[in-house]
Amino acid sequence: MNGQLAQLVRALRSHRRGHWFEPSIAHHKKMTAIISEQIKILAELQKIDSEIYALRQEIEAYPEIQKKADQEFDNKKLNLKSAEDEHRALQAKQKGMEIELGSKEDKIAKLQSQLFSLKSNKEYQAMDFEIKALKADKSLLEEEILIFFDSIETAKAKVTKEKELLSVEEKKHKEELSVTQKRIAEIQADIQVHEEKRKAFTPSIDPKILPQYEKLLKNREGLAIAPIRNNSCGGCNIGLPPQIVNEARMLEKFITCESCARMLYWAP
Ligand SMILES: [Zn+2]
Repeated sequence: MNGQLAQLVRALRSHRRGHWFEPSIAHHKKMTAIISEQIKILAELQKIDSEIYALRQEIEAYPEIQKKADQEFDNKKLNLKSAEDEHRALQAKQKGMEIELGSKEDKIAKLQSQLFSLKSNKEYQAMDFEIKALKADKSLLEEEILIFFDSIETAKAKVTKEKELLSVEEKKHKEELSVTQKRIAEIQADIQVHEEKRKAFTPSIDPKILPQYEKLLKNREGLAIAPIRNNSCGGCNIGLPPQIVNEARMLEKFITCESCARMLYWAP
């Protein structure tokens, strides 16, 4: 049995008897150095991953922003549509009035042609009275049509104005869309750069720790490792027991937050 093995067996026996295996000072120092180094790398990686997370959040927010902008633009189209509807309705009404005017004119002409073929003076007077009444109606209608013509002109001008406004809005909307698309492309390129950067860090991380880190990153809003601040978890802000804080300072093992499971490190 060589020296090292003998030491291990003694240590295990001692452990079984209820005594803790006392690591050598050199071993302790080495472990502390490893953990300290790992935490440093993880914290650096977290910085990159936090940026990636923020960039992804920005991209994810865009469809909603775009939807809102599209809705606002659609609402602006409604103004033009209602102006056009109003114009069309007035035109239809005018058409009806013109038809009515035409029929009155026809009737007047018909009665006037019959006027001289009438036998009695009484009949003549009655028809003449009817013609005068029709002419009065006709002139009222003509006045109405004239006034109505102004309303149509106003409605038509409103359509033109709404069309102009909409074309300005459409231009603005398209510009916004192109700015958004440009920004999304920028973010995607930025994410690529950060993804490349993180590749420089991951090989240095303990392969037992890395999957845990990645899982936390995915499930904890892009924050896997957090500093301890004011004796609280820098991830969920829950106060930490003094023992946890001490253990984090000792750097003897990896410490996690009991409430959010994020990895913790002491950051003076
Ligand atoms: Zn926490």
